[in-house]
Amino acid sequence: MKGTDYELFASVILEVNINKTLDYGVPKELVDQVKPGMKVTVPLRGRPQVGFIHELKSTCDYVPVQPIKSLSSSDKLITEEVFELALWMARYYCTPLNKVLKAILPSTIRKDGQHKQQLSVTRNKTREDLASYCVSIRNRYPKQAEVLDAMLTVKKGILLTELQEIVGCQRGPINTLAKNGYLSIDTVRVDRSPLENAEYFKTKPKTLNPDQAKALHNILQSLEAQRFETHLLYGVTGSGKTEVYLQAIDRALQLNKGTIMLVPEISLTPQTVERFRSRFEGQIAILHHRLSQGERFDEWHKIKEGRAKIVIGARSAIFCPLPDVGLIIVDEEHESSYKQSEEAPCYNARDIAVMRGLKSNSSVILGSATPSLESFYNAKTGKYTLSKLDNRANNAYKPKVKIVDMKHEYAKSKGFTNFCEELLDGIKKRQKLGEQTILFLNRRGYHTVLMCKSCGEAIRCEHCDVSLTYHKMTSLLACHLCGFTRPKPAFCPKCKSPETMQFKGVGTEQVEKSLYAIFPDIRIIRLDADTTRHKGSHQKLLREFGTGKADVLIGTQMVAKGLHFPQVTLVGVLNSDATLNMPDFRASETVFQLITQVSGRSGRGSLPGEVIIQSCMSENRTIQLAAEQDYDAFYEEEVVSRDYFNYPPFQKLVKVCFSGTNQELTHKLAVRWSQLLVNGLSKEYEVYPVVASGYAKVKDRFRYHLLVRGPSVSPINHVLTKVSEHLKKPKDIKVLFDIDTLSTYF
Ligand code: ADP
Ligand code: ZN
Ligand code: ZN
Repeated sequence: MKGTDYELFASVILEVNINKTLDYGVPKELVDQVKPGMKVTVPLRGRPQVGFIHELKSTCDYVPVQPIKSLSSSDKLITEEVFELALWMARYYCTPLNKVLKAILPSTIRKDGQHKQQLSVTRNKTREDLASYCVSIRNRYPKQAEVLDAMLTVKKGILLTELQEIVGCQRGPINTLAKNGYLSIDTVRVDRSPLENAEYFKTKPKTLNPDQAKALHNILQSLEAQRFETHLLYGVTGSGKTEVYLQAIDRALQLNKGTIMLVPEISLTPQTVERFRSRFEGQIAILHHRLSQGERFDEWHKIKEGRAKIVIGARSAIFCPLPDVGLIIVDEEHESSYKQSEEAPCYNARDIAVMRGLKSNSSVILGSATPSLESFYNAKTGKYTLSKLDNRANNAYKPKVKIVDMKHEYAKSKGFTNFCEELLDGIKKRQKLGEQTILFLNRRGYHTVLMCKSCGEAIRCEHCDVSLTYHKMTSLLACHLCGFTRPKPAFCPKCKSPETMQFKGVGTEQVEKSLYAIFPDIRIIRLDADTTRHKGSHQKLLREFGTGKADVLIGTQMVAKGLHFPQVTLVGVLNSDATLNMPDFRASETVFQLITQVSGRSGRGSLPGEVIIQSCMSENRTIQLAAEQDYDAFYEEEVVSRDYFNYPPFQKLVKVCFSGTNQELTHKLAVRWSQLLVNGLSKEYEVYPVVASGYAKVKDRFRYHLLVRGPSVSPINHVLTKVSEHLKKPKDIKVLFDIDTLSTYF
């Protein structure tokens, strides 16, 4: 068949790494079915390849063309709205469309294409029979015995894939057991809901206070008119932002509109979900990265088929195939976890939310107690509608915040101490009263460095440019970037002097130990990456704390955000200085947000709260403003300096990152790029010199970056695309474009 034999052509983006579209003819029988965004199989050099329809058109530039072989499913995998988003992202984030699609579609969905029937395994004999058979084959067929062990613990049945995951086996042993009549394998269609078994209480809408009512009124104006508008809901922690979200969602439901609600991964706890579920039982789908493949698959289809009108999820939930979106909420919009920084496309889900709102005529709510400078600037300049909630909602008072100068404390105690006296008194008092304390420290492990006293060398990771952290529990030095571990060396690896190795720096593990040493009968729960390795442990620890099983919760970032425990009346920030010392344009903003967020965990119930901030930089302006909880003053000062130094929101900032195993080649390539960028951009644009990244080596790869700054992103992207097309690069070196980068340092 010649190209002219078709009435309709499709430009197709292939999944294999081809950075352009290819044209195919649409066979007659498919003409009525094809739509942009559909997954198709097409021939390429004689082999079938999977791709997505980019565009449909009536002419074709190449003849002869080959026909589309098949549509992978009659369902569209990507709604036209999301596909449009993808196209926008490919341009804005300077990333090939097939890579963008990979970020948008969960791999289970990409691979399966259609609603796959699941295989489930059930017991075919009584538990007793299976148990005795299991014992009899344990030595001869250990894998089969392990399968039976697992099958004896499940309630009724289990998905085959999950059984394989638990046991860590192929299908062989399971098939054998089925063939011999002990198990049966059947096809079922099950909905594996991540919400199952969660308990909840039904709640009713609360009567809003005047500030909340005003905010809701603003939101409903655009929601009911189905007009795109972005609202910045700026309310102190505990001011009742969530209640405003809930009532806006309720209205969206009445209008038969869907809602997407983004929350930071870290605050996507059962506690959060429960607040929504208790209002909208049965209408919620949850998306986050801890879901099993099966759960994700089912939630995705539930959303697509309109069985769940409210989607709550982390970053990538913004791409969910929810039809008829009317409301998009981004809670804690300032959170850096909305930004993907390690991999292309380096998108910010908050910005995508606004873009999706624009494309779907939705109302967008960005909520925060400490809005990003960018969003607040947009509100001040009229791009967003600002609604303020000045007071805590349930008559709770703002906590009393105090800064303690640790230099005095060290002098008083004649040496280093983890806790100031006031904090210790406070913890003791809370323990007596049955109230609770949260202690925040953004370092995990026991000691953060092992240093040589005679030559000053710290023990570093063999694969990364970072010092190793000592973990007492495992008695090992561990790298927090790559997981490398080693035992403590007997003598200094550099100067070889023995017995001079000295531990320095404090992590959460040590804080826990030293608090036990001071108060032997205190009950502590520690929440960090080390104590939450296993699935469900994070939730379990929080539940225990919430039900009063501990006096003190010690933790990293995980305790700083989103938690709501009314019995917590004291929060201690153990050390806020490290982040402030980082040479990054956002350092102050980050510290201000962190202190405010963690302080907001105190006094959320009827009891007044207190916050103690330990710092060696107590004169620091950011720490003082954070203690006064004066965001407006902080904004006014910070925005002046951003303007002065030409940083966002006044200028756009793009970071180009280079990484490779050969240091010299990587650096050379980066320098070559910087020259070409300088040549390609007009004078308004500034290209910074190439520097080693904050982590100069990670997993044996050397890292460099350069920054480009200027009034708009598109000319920068234009040049980036041109350079990557023309400049050959060694295969091993990776180049990443981080548009609107959050960090100038890492
Ligand atoms: P935020 O999301 O701003 O941190 P929350 O929505 O968690 O604040 O509200 C804090 C507390 O105040 C919650 O216990 C909530 O139930 C309560 N609350 C919110 N709005 C009201 C209201 N209008 N009347 C009474 N209590 C309220
Ligand atoms: Zn030494
Ligand atoms: Zn490492």
